[in-house]
Amino acid sequence: MKINPNRSVIDRKIADPEVPDELFAKCPACKHSIYSKDLGAEKICPHCGYNFRITAKERLALLLDDVDQDFEEKFTGIDSKNPLDFPGYPEKLAATKAKTGLDEAILTGLATIKGHKTALAIMDSSFIMASMGTVVGEKLTRLFELATAEKLPVVVFTASGGARMQEGIMSLMQMAKISAAVKRHSNAGLLYLTVLTDPTTGGVTASFAMEGDIILAEPQALIGFAGRRVIEQTVRQTLPDDFQKAEFLQEHGFVDAIVKRQELKDKLALLLAMHEEGGAK
Ligand SMILES: [Zn+2]
Repeated sequence: MKINPNRSVIDRKIADPEVPDELFAKCPACKHSIYSKDLGAEKICPHCGYNFRITAKERLALLLDDVDQDFEEKFTGIDSKNPLDFPGYPEKLAATKAKTGLDEAILTGLATIKGHKTALAIMDSSFIMASMGTVVGEKLTRLFELATAEKLPVVVFTASGGARMQEGIMSLMQMAKISAAVKRHSNAGLLYLTVLTDPTTGGVTASFAMEGDIILAEPQALIGFAGRRVIEQTVRQTLPDDFQKAEFLQEHGFVDAIVKRQELKDKLALLLAMHEEGGAK
């Protein structure tokens, strides 16, 4: 993508004063202000290559040739019971559902990526920071069980602030529940691929995000368990600047490959083909 470096955001605003502010995005990595249109469908900073956070539906559109034909959503309509009677939680859920058009922080279903059939889950950080509660756990577990029964691989795009605190220990239990379903899928000899996107943290990192047979990550994604400050206080050491970045994790063997968003669809299709009967051509 080419943008005219001689024409600043301010110049554009002067030239087109009707442009409202939401048409501008500030890159969290390089701090440039960018005309939103210049980010393109893939939402990549033209200055530094930062991959902006995208919604599950935007991800779906990037990943599939034809979303209507190539995706069949599954396991909708599962509702949280507010197990702790957490004040205001049902209202917060209802407002988030209305705002995002999602029924929970994860989209699950069966997909065909460039002709390769797979079970697919995509977490969406715009839904209560894609925190993992009982519904996220249930949807993912059912997806793994369906994939095991139908002998399909599973691809999961992770993004999460961690366990959903409004559901307390019920959220933490999802880690074990999903992991058990992952293990049964693995015992059946089936492939599980994870793509870690910005940010993947907490109980999600500590369970299914890191259980993939192949673990991919997007450039510069924040990946970790506890936050930097908590770790620094605990170990009484200053951590390196790139600590908890995808690149740092790859260097230390936690991530197999960092794949640019523009190349993700092809890379996933190739990996799926390599593990199908007959292999990749
Ligand atoms: Zn940038």
